[in-house]
Amino acid sequence: MFNSHFHSKYSHDAHSELESIIDCAIKKGFKGIALTDHCNCNFTPERNDFETVSAGLIKLESLKEKYQGKIKLLKGVEIGEELFRKENAEKMRAIGGYDVILGSSHEYLRDGVFLRTATQEYDKWTSEEVSGYTNYYYSYILQMVKETDIDVVCHLTLPLRYLKRRGVNYDNTVHDNTIKEIFSLMIKRGIALELNTSGYLSGLFLPDEYYLKLYKSVGGKLVTIGTDAHVDEKIAQGFLEGLELLKKAGFSSYYYFEKRKPQEVKIQI
Ligand SMILES: [Zn+2]
Ligand SMILES: [Zn+2]
Repeated sequence: MFNSHFHSKYSHDAHSELESIIDCAIKKGFKGIALTDHCNCNFTPERNDFETVSAGLIKLESLKEKYQGKIKLLKGVEIGEELFRKENAEKMRAIGGYDVILGSSHEYLRDGVFLRTATQEYDKWTSEEVSGYTNYYYSYILQMVKETDIDVVCHLTLPLRYLKRRGVNYDNTVHDNTIKEIFSLMIKRGIALELNTSGYLSGLFLPDEYYLKLYKSVGGKLVTIGTDAHVDEKIAQGFLEGLELLKKAGFSSYYYFEKRKPQEVKIQI
């Protein structure tokens, strides 16, 4: 089992020590895990992800000897909002030695202001406002897969999680043509699709079975699994359920990245 997405205390929104997470991962039976702390590319004195992510990767490197033969420790980063902050993203990328680079979007640029998408009160928004956000999101992801040097698109369809939390029903199929375009570009560029299992308890995988099947139907093969855990004991959250879902969607393998090259893992359940 290889988990390609988790956060440690080196992310602004997580607190677990790396060793504690690694010990939990070994207990849960993982053969490898990729540390992918947040880099929002907006390096300010209040939140300097360049410093924290770098410190986390140095710590990970220092633990490799201790855990040798027990678990593979992979170096990664989750880069968000790169299109607006390219120089800082390049600075983050330039430290090098990555096994995997995830690309994501957590903000919504509306009327010149970046809104944090996780915390908006969508239930108070009009349907036009909601569409404004979702249109923005998919065009951002499309641009991201066109322009940026990433290995994995993580938690595709993220707006569905936030809308669901606020009780907003939303028909995402209006974006299917854009999503197909995103998939085609990813396949062409060798960028993998992540199955993000962090929402499994509420029954919402990102993306869900419908989009996994759509990805497969247009020729998609490269799928990674990320639990996106922000707490040590949740390192395996939804992982086995994610494997079941992949099988159901017609995949017989998933992948993890090492030195930025996809490695195949057969699904054996
Ligand atoms: Zn994320
Ligand atoms: Zn994440």
